[in-house]
Amino acid sequence: MKPFENALRQLNIAAQAINLNSDILKRLSVPDKIITANLPIKKDDGTLQIYEAYRVQYNNARGPYKGGIRFHPQVDIDEVKALSFWMTIKCAVVGIPMGGGKGGVTVDVKTTSDSELEKISRAWVGAFKDLIGPDKDVPAPDVYTNPQTMAWMADEYSKLVGAKKLGVVTGKPLDMGGSQGRGAATAKGGMFVLADLVAKRSWDPKNMSVAVQGLGNVGGGMAKFLFDEGYKVVAVADSKSIIYKEDGLNIDEVLSRKENKQTLNDLPGVKEISLTEFFALPVDVLVPAALENQITLENADSIKAKVILEMGNGPTTPEADKILFAKKVEVIPDVLANAGGVTVSYFEWLQNNEDKYWSEDEVNAKLKEIMIDAWQKTFDIAQEKNVDYRTAAFILAIGRLAEAMSK
Ligand code: GLU
Repeated sequence: MKPFENALRQLNIAAQAINLNSDILKRLSVPDKIITANLPIKKDDGTLQIYEAYRVQYNNARGPYKGGIRFHPQVDIDEVKALSFWMTIKCAVVGIPMGGGKGGVTVDVKTTSDSELEKISRAWVGAFKDLIGPDKDVPAPDVYTNPQTMAWMADEYSKLVGAKKLGVVTGKPLDMGGSQGRGAATAKGGMFVLADLVAKRSWDPKNMSVAVQGLGNVGGGMAKFLFDEGYKVVAVADSKSIIYKEDGLNIDEVLSRKENKQTLNDLPGVKEISLTEFFALPVDVLVPAALENQITLENADSIKAKVILEMGNGPTTPEADKILFAKKVEVIPDVLANAGGVTVSYFEWLQNNEDKYWSEDEVNAKLKEIMIDAWQKTFDIAQEKNVDYRTAAFILAIGRLAEAMSK
């Protein structure tokens, strides 16, 4: 299951539904540019290690290429291509004037020291410095990269070009030109959309149960917001353990354990379950906030959730989508559900360009407006054309991309 193949299948389903101009479809089926580099890094023990690094610039018809940089052992060119394509769609879904790109380094951060990660981050910028820039291509954090990574990158870029260029990356720490609300933005954006769907269906969060896969910035943030809103979070999964508690986990406890690098499976009253059991749980909402290809032909039929809120990128395959649509499971797709992150990245970039900074309330109010507008448009297209929300979101995005590409 190659992520880029899945991405193209999603594109083709939407293209067919609207009879998309074949030239536009051809252009949207390939990235503008793929750049790879080998980064030679001296490890702490004095040995030299070569790390593979990537940047894919997919499409900039609507604005500078935009998208995160992933540090993960499974990063490869196919994955980065898919992720850069989804960024193109995502920015168009929420209507921000940005294109799509993505980067990565094949590295396991768990066995890499901070000083090695700093060298890798700076070397990444050194390798791609001529391609990136505030008006050309603006990276950001993704899986296993964070504000510290962005601080190193912004600093390195500014040194290399001989001028302070804060807008070259987003997701920076606050004292280096970061935006209020960026850290929580992805989770918050997902919450705005979920709350609206829950209201549309006249459900009550207090009677709803949830399972969250992934406890990174996005998954951890979601688990916390859901818990605080009164949802019963009965299961969480991270790369080490999957835990279940029928009457609900105390997410504050889970997250503080995680922060202190303690194990989760010995929390009082929890049961360890398998990933197969996790996806088959009788919950109302399932939140995949980890990696690609989690919900597939193998497990889609076992899913009992009413709603799947895709907070990670590419968790559901096209085959699974078909099964879920037939089962009337409402899948809120990644390109909409997790677009809050890039939306506040765009706000950060604007604030850097204008050198005027916004309050957290201002950021959140603008984020809510954009997320709800994109969601309502997606919802309406889905009703009108009797398609799933993913196809509807793609239709919305492709329309905007086609317009920009015809100019
Ligand atoms: N990595 C995030 C995403 O997949 C954020 C990208 C950004 O802020 O540019 O949407």
